[in-house]
Amino acid sequence: MIQTVTGKISSSELGVCSAHEHLCIDLSRIKKDPDTILDDVGGMEEELRRFKRAGGRSMVEVTNDGMGRDASLLKKLSETTGVHIIASTGFYKDPFLPEQSASWNRDDFARRMLDEIRNGIEGTEVYPGIIGEVGSSHHEIKPIEKELLMGAGIAGIESGLPVTTHTTLGTMGVEQVELFLKLGLAMDQLIIGHQDLNTDDERILAVLESGAYVGFDTIGKNNYRKDTERIRLFEFLFERGFGSRILLSTDLTRKSHWHKYGGIGYDYVLHSFVPLLKENGFSDRDIHMLLVENPARAFCQKVITS
Ligand SMILES: [Zn+2]
Repeated sequence: MIQTVTGKISSSELGVCSAHEHLCIDLSRIKKDPDTILDDVGGMEEELRRFKRAGGRSMVEVTNDGMGRDASLLKKLSETTGVHIIASTGFYKDPFLPEQSASWNRDDFARRMLDEIRNGIEGTEVYPGIIGEVGSSHHEIKPIEKELLMGAGIAGIESGLPVTTHTTLGTMGVEQVELFLKLGLAMDQLIIGHQDLNTDDERILAVLESGAYVGFDTIGKNNYRKDTERIRLFEFLFERGFGSRILLSTDLTRKSHWHKYGGIGYDYVLHSFVPLLKENGFSDRDIHMLLVENPARAFCQKVITS
């Protein structure tokens, strides 16, 4: 089963799923840029409707505590648009952690996540369906980020929820895997994010060989990396048999990413990247696997038997 903001659904109900998005977010406290505030509810609805018209059925919303998460709003958006939304529990990375968590250890982070998983997010009756996006810095896992990642792993083991991570420009993915492996988290419960920005192919392979999923979740952000490069990486990973471990998304966080401000929109994968995959010889079968089957497998909550 998969926990959405409106209740549990079976994995077969998930449909075409965007694996790593932000609908309602505010990173301006740190970024000092009003472009990094998404708070226009009408705009969110409009974007979700476009996503749905393009064939999208569900979205994993990885905004968490300290990033401007609004669980009640996500529920309302899901009800008005009919798009399944999966909400998150967790914290992002340094320096986005809320002040009160500055001195927390792994158990403190885990306790807070498990409390939201069991009792709802911030006093609402909206439950998270995923732990994340929990992350690390560029070429570095800072001490507080290590505690956060370990806390997420502990909460993942105890709850059975998938854990989805942020890596800064794709770096430290292998180190994140090692940390979760040491804890005993099942690797098919782990998604290492932003690996389409990792310029070291061998390190992406090393992440996949552990059994974890990888997020190709900044598709369309050609300022970071060209989509043609992403296609080359797809070819490289499909040839090696890892097509069933890749999750797609656009990771929009700015007003300027929305259609109404001239951006690509949450439907970009469906209206632009899928045609590019087809032009490059990927089959309908491959695309169905990427958009539907992989998320259904990756986001399913593990049944905890003990
Ligand atoms: Zn991220």
